Amino acid sequence: MIRSDRIQKDIQTLHQFNQTPGNGCTRYSFSTEDRQAREYICAEMEKIGVPVLTDAYGNLLMFGQGQSDRQVMIGSHIDTVPNGGDYDGILGVVSGIEILRHFHEESIILEVGLVVVVFAEEEGNQFRMPCVGCHSMVNLKREEALNRVRDDGKTYREVMEAFILKDERGSIDFSKVLAMLEIHVEQGPVLWREDFEVGIVEGIFGLQRYMILVEGVSNHSGATPMDGRQDPMIAAARMIQAVRERGKAAMPQVATVGCILCEPNTINIIPDSVEFSIEVRDFDQIKIEATYDLLWEDFDRVAEDEGVKWSKKPVGTSPVIRLDQDLIGQMDRISEELGVKAQRIVSGAAHDAAIVAAFAPTEMLFVPSVDGRSHCPDEYTPIEKIVPAVRMAEQWVREMKSK
Ligand SMILES: [Zn+2]
Repeated sequence: MIRSDRIQKDIQTLHQFNQTPGNGCTRYSFSTEDRQAREYICAEMEKIGVPVLTDAYGNLLMFGQGQSDRQVMIGSHIDTVPNGGDYDGILGVVSGIEILRHFHEESIILEVGLVVVVFAEEEGNQFRMPCVGCHSMVNLKREEALNRVRDDGKTYREVMEAFILKDERGSIDFSKVLAMLEIHVEQGPVLWREDFEVGIVEGIFGLQRYMILVEGVSNHSGATPMDGRQDPMIAAARMIQAVRERGKAAMPQVATVGCILCEPNTINIIPDSVEFSIEVRDFDQIKIEATYDLLWEDFDRVAEDEGVKWSKKPVGTSPVIRLDQDLIGQMDRISEELGVKAQRIVSGAAHDAAIVAAFAPTEMLFVPSVDGRSHCPDEYTPIEKIVPAVRMAEQWVREMKSK
């Protein structure tokens, strides 16, 4: 039986390995707290005879045996943002652990092996790159990932090598991996608001980012009449307003200005230039581009009105990820069979699963986040809203055939 008390105990125990007790949970990969968390997981696996190894990139692997050499993966992460919650990532790991316990307890012999994975350094806090462990594992940007440098000058590779004991190495052979599943908190309000138990994830928003530079004429704030100004701050304000309007008109698309820089940034000077970011995310790449086309027209009009120049610089893009259609259909059916109240959903945030999706059929299940809160101490999902997704995952593993 999938036991909610054990899942709850895992969540509570992992919470204790925490740099900021009393103010959310802070646990960075390869920290003392991470070591304590990994030791707890190893001890739990030892109780049921599941070997735990670490791959060459710092990811923890729990190998549940199957009759064939084919494998399915369930995984997520246990590192957190500073003062984060107890559920983001952690749920995907403790779900896999509970499923392994259940198979052991019921003496269920699986056709395929179940590997539960703790992906290292998902949040990207230390090395300013998300999903470093996962990127390295699938050999996507591996060298870039391993050579990322932390504030103390040490690379990911150095920090990870110093942390991992040499004699506990293992690896995943992706040619043997049939599928991957990640259970995760929604981190948004939809499932909670509409009282669903599980979100069957169809895919993950793509995104495109730009930096916009608006250049005007810098001048004395007291001596320059209002009607003669070429003020890039006013132009930028109108452009930022347009970003919100275009995003709202294309919902569920989201459009955000998250960063702004002003020169010379002084109280008595009309600025010389203002630079700001735009990020547009959508489940349809064409719609992202359509929003930008409209924005560029808006910006041309504003620039003409305000007598300023503007230019754009692309600073990052990430493609729309569509998860595996067969697995989505299988999850639809399993939810019906188990009487789980589920609905299809699209993820606005990226996850380890989004990276694995390019290498193996991949699916995600979301559980509700109370009030849509995440990456904060208030992040919470009641246990009765966690168990349905774990039961679905358990059935999913049992159904997998070696083919
Ligand atoms: Zn996460």
